[in-house]
Amino acid sequence: MAGLLFGTGGAPHSAKTASTIDGIKRIAELGLGCMEVEFVQGVRMGPEGARLVGETATKMGIKLTAHAPYFINLNAHEQEKIRASQDRLLQTARIASLCGAESIIFHSAFYLGDSPEETYNKVKKYLEEVMRQLERENCPVLFRPEVMGKVSQFGTLEEVLNLSAELEGIAPGIDFAHWHARTGKFNSYQEFTSILEQVKERLGRAALDNMHIHVSGIAYGNKGEIKHLDLKESDFQYVELLKALKDYEVKGMVICESPNLEEDAMLLQATYSDLLKVG
Ligand SMILES: [Zn+2]
Repeated sequence: MAGLLFGTGGAPHSAKTASTIDGIKRIAELGLGCMEVEFVQGVRMGPEGARLVGETATKMGIKLTAHAPYFINLNAHEQEKIRASQDRLLQTARIASLCGAESIIFHSAFYLGDSPEETYNKVKKYLEEVMRQLERENCPVLFRPEVMGKVSQFGTLEEVLNLSAELEGIAPGIDFAHWHARTGKFNSYQEFTSILEQVKERLGRAALDNMHIHVSGIAYGNKGEIKHLDLKESDFQYVELLKALKDYEVKGMVICESPNLEEDAMLLQATYSDLLKVG
């Protein structure tokens, strides 16, 4: 796949059960290349289970990545909520690294009425503490703040790229559907390539060689994201995006978060593979 792998956020619907291991097996059967392990409702996997997940993924040749719990706000106004958010990131990192997951994507914060600058500084400070703790634990994972779809959420493209440039161990998690929903723009070949140019300029070519991308159809209004949709029910120009990814020789993982999960993941993979054949 020329270094770009396609997969689902969580186990495919057609997996035998919703367990991570059955999910990985189904990903392999479908001919997809990767899966995002969803710890979105909390990290409920133990070290033993995580090692088994890692072994299964290696055996099946499937690459893994992880999504941290939703209940994280590094800009919370209560100190205990910040600590709890940091703990959730740490827990995810410890278990994800045992799974062999290459990186962890997460929702950083809400502005809660604070200025973007204030929010940025807090997120950066608390994230830095998490990274330092993981260094002490010798747990080398890459954290990826996600580009978010609602205007109330911290995580514009610029914010994510700035954190990635300024902090060791941080890389971007670019959700193209979110950015389209949030801006009402960024839905054409030209605009998609402008994002890739911005990544390259800010972080260097190496960032394009190791990208983590989310794609889905999306419904949106003037406050941004409303809900995810299947690609063909949405206005999202996924073929244009795939063309841009091909032309910039982007490598890494494309995780599909459409409600139909594997159907759209396979549509993306097949479309991309056709584009490669055309050259
Ligand atoms: Zn997410």
